[in-house]
Amino acid sequence: MTKIVVIGGGFAGVTTAYYLAKEGLFVELHESSKVIGGRTKSFYNESTLDWYDNGQHLIIKGYSNTLKFFRDTGTLNNFHSLKNPYVDFCFNDSSIKRFYLKPTLLNLLNNIKFNNSSYFENINLFKFLFKVKDINEKNFRYKLCSDFLKEFNQSENLINNFWKIFIESTLNTSLEESDASIFITILKKMFFEDKNNSSLIFNNSDFYNDFFFNIEKLLKALNVCIRTNSVINKVEIQNGKIISIKNVNGDHINADIFVFAIPFWSLEKIFSENYQFVKLIKNLETNSILNVHIWFKDYRPIRKFIALWGSEFHWVFFNQRHITVVKSVAKDLVELKNEKLLDLVISELSRYDILLERSNILDYKILRERRATFKSNSGSIFSRPDNKTEIKNLFIAGDFTNTNLPSTIESAVTSGMKCAKLILESLSQLV
Ligand SMILES: Cc1cc2nc3c(=O)[nH]c(=O)nc-3n(C[C@H](O)[C@H](O)[C@H](O)COP(=O)(O)OP(=O)(O)OC[C@H]3O[C@@H](n4cnc5c(N)ncnc54)[C@H](O)[C@@H]3O)c2cc1C
Repeated sequence: MTKIVVIGGGFAGVTTAYYLAKEGLFVELHESSKVIGGRTKSFYNESTLDWYDNGQHLIIKGYSNTLKFFRDTGTLNNFHSLKNPYVDFCFNDSSIKRFYLKPTLLNLLNNIKFNNSSYFENINLFKFLFKVKDINEKNFRYKLCSDFLKEFNQSENLINNFWKIFIESTLNTSLEESDASIFITILKKMFFEDKNNSSLIFNNSDFYNDFFFNIEKLLKALNVCIRTNSVINKVEIQNGKIISIKNVNGDHINADIFVFAIPFWSLEKIFSENYQFVKLIKNLETNSILNVHIWFKDYRPIRKFIALWGSEFHWVFFNQRHITVVKSVAKDLVELKNEKLLDLVISELSRYDILLERSNILDYKILRERRATFKSNSGSIFSRPDNKTEIKNLFIAGDFTNTNLPSTIESAVTSGMKCAKLILESLSQLV
């Protein structure tokens, strides 16, 4: 029987393992941590007795492969969508204005009242959005988003407040570094491919209970052997083919086909830089994301989430039991000590009339993901490798592969699906 080893238990790895095992192949999954989940893992808070996610993850209806994966694995009911999706922007005069994301005439009329400043700015915002659908993104490769937006008459106010939140949250790359062609692709996908694409989808509780607990059970039922605490650190290659791999415990692992579904910075450590795919990934860079989770003695969620207009931080999510304050592209803040960061969050939120009394804080956790995503900058455009490599029985999967999507769950799932399909199509030549 053909044996396939998948290395990495994030979304890309579990997607690949699931679609291969479903076809009756024997799959073994190796994960370096003690749990699967990768960058979407969750933690249990012993003092508040509840779960919280590594990062607050936003999913949209346009994530068609992710939603298919949830449907196929029977987990879709653990996610819910906002019918007429919106973003509530909180201004620092503490007013809240709603921006509707679905491109309908009624929403357009509602959105005219959105911005705190002039109608003129708003009209330029909508003119720009209408033009985007006819723009050829290839003509804007290597142009920075900040310059691109100025070219389309977006005011400094809109660029630094509205577009900054939008771009930094979807691309996790600063305005000054994001490539305009990637941004245009995302805008088109969200607003013009299907008017429902921008609908926001939230998990009901956390990624462990809503997804990874279930997928682990399902993989085991499909006879996938899951080996956690298995850090792969060596490969033995002969005649252009992997003979075996080794983990830090000293185990040799043999298989017919190997799928490395680990981040590119881990891949670089295992394979020689003479391989084409390693040369490509050397050009990729990373950006951080900061999540501050805070629990209170007395707390009731007042709304679902808000975006902070003109703040150091981007979002506040009001979860069932705690709030999560998020900053994308967080390099300036991730090195601050916990106490200092908490102070900063409290004082920043008080500017928006969200008063957090220190004495009401029950617990807090600060999660710094220094390498949360790859940067969607110009350097990334031609640096993303395909799933198939020049090593005959080696495939790679992960958000960084050539999916034409930013560093997201959808990119990881799409990559895993593509990888499984490629393997199934070429199985007879591979073994
Ligand atoms: C804080 C944060 C917020 C985010 N927000 C969003 C969001 O709102 N929306 C969105 O779509 N995306 C978001 N992302 C990005 C998204 O989480 C990732 O793009 C996606 O999870 C990547 O999945 P992956 O399977 O490619 O990689 P990973 O999730 O990194 O999985 C790789 C796995 O490989 C394992 N591994 C690594 N090296 C080895 C080794 N040598 N041996 C064995 N195993 C190994 C790792 O432990 C890990 O489990 C966010 C990311 C972070 C960190």
